Amino acid sequence: MGAISAFETAAAVKNGKGGARKAVEHALEQAEKKASLGAFLEVFGKEALERAAAIDRKAAAGEKLGRLAGVPVALKDNLLYSGHAMTCGSKLLAGYKSVYNATVVERLLAEDAVLVGRTNMDEFAMGSSCENSAYQPTRNPADPERVPGGSSGGSAAAVAADMAAIALGSDTGGSIRQPAALCGVVGLKPTYGLVSRFGLVAFASSLDQIGPFTSDVRDCALALSVLAGHDRRDSTSAQRPDQDYLAGIDGGVKGLKIGIPKEYFGAGLDSEVEKLVRCAAAALEKKGAVLKEISLPYMKYAVAAYYIVASCEASSNLARFDGVRYGYSASKDDTGLTLQQAYEKTRGRGFGSEVKRRIMLGTYALSAGYYDAYYAKAQKIRALIRKDFMKAFQECDLVLTPTSPTPAFKLGEKMSDPLQMYLSDVYTIPCNMAGIPGMSIPCGKTAAGLPVGFQLFGAPFSEPLMFRAGRAYELGAGAA
Ligand code: GLN
Repeated sequence: MGAISAFETAAAVKNGKGGARKAVEHALEQAEKKASLGAFLEVFGKEALERAAAIDRKAAAGEKLGRLAGVPVALKDNLLYSGHAMTCGSKLLAGYKSVYNATVVERLLAEDAVLVGRTNMDEFAMGSSCENSAYQPTRNPADPERVPGGSSGGSAAAVAADMAAIALGSDTGGSIRQPAALCGVVGLKPTYGLVSRFGLVAFASSLDQIGPFTSDVRDCALALSVLAGHDRRDSTSAQRPDQDYLAGIDGGVKGLKIGIPKEYFGAGLDSEVEKLVRCAAAALEKKGAVLKEISLPYMKYAVAAYYIVASCEASSNLARFDGVRYGYSASKDDTGLTLQQAYEKTRGRGFGSEVKRRIMLGTYALSAGYYDAYYAKAQKIRALIRKDFMKAFQECDLVLTPTSPTPAFKLGEKMSDPLQMYLSDVYTIPCNMAGIPGMSIPCGKTAAGLPVGFQLFGAPFSEPLMFRAGRAYELGAGAA
């Protein structure tokens, strides 16, 4: 059986023949059969089946159903789902239970989606391989010796292995698009502000966005139609009306100008990845798009600037995990600790080494005497990266690049070298720095059978155009 289509599942459920149960049973069966991939931290088996049965009953009674009726959806473990555990892949939040729903969870439930489980991730979304999870690694469904990417690796693996039709992730520097590329599924980081982050545990607030993983572009457009919309509970939420992103998706690419930035095809890019991505661009050209070489010169500073900005914001956001309010508390293990000792021991034991590294980096970069040299400078670079893109979008409608410089790497391969790991996001980070939307779309496999993805960027709020191009590619051009 192929991937579960959200679009087709919702349509089948509506005819009242038990489609929700069938889809959810299939997803749960796959999750059980392929449990060794480690995609889920928890499967909501019983309640998912009950909810599917209730949706089928609604369908049989002829009641109005939502746009994701009976569609199995997985949640990254940093999204709040009331009454359910949520750990951010960290020991620090072991035992924590959400007390309210994230806005995206409410939107999914309102459209009759069925939440099937919470997926593994790098601790507090810091990482590119899922190996920073405090609980388990996740394996790539295409090759279990390899990583699925990260930080939303569990979500990518769940969709790739048919355990969910849609999975939600969060993307601060590439955490949706890089794992999507490495697992062979579609992943979208929407425009900053398009999807509410109320109920997402913050990593770097000026960069974080929630977005979907799906098996095709049409499902991605359907998912965004449900997820996107103004929310007064998120102060960065854009004042825009809800939109149907399926409208116009079949418009094709005739005359569309697609920029190919030369800086994204330089040193460090795997030759098989380059070939497949260039093939995808050529396929779009064949469908009527016009390719144009462009330059995004400030891209080369993006990784360095990102690790300053993201770490600074993380050091501030993660200050709330003090053992008093959420999850693990050292004073439950040791009696007689002073408040200061309780903070230190809670954080010392609760956080893993990558999270500690980021907190220290960020605290240092923000400290008196260093602020201007690091944080302020990184913000200036960020403005230049954004300017680069805005200039590019005056000459072209979309920009096309590889998503990741290499296909999936082996478990353990980059764990001893954080810098190597950080470079996995060299092509995805600039998009977060600029606040623009980015989508990864599968474009074939290497000779060894590893999935490769290409990435489309658009101007802010140009998701409809990205879906049009992505859909044209997947329908006509086909994977190489
Ligand atoms: N891999 C990047 C990091 O470790 C991006 C993570 C993300 O997008 N959440 O920060």
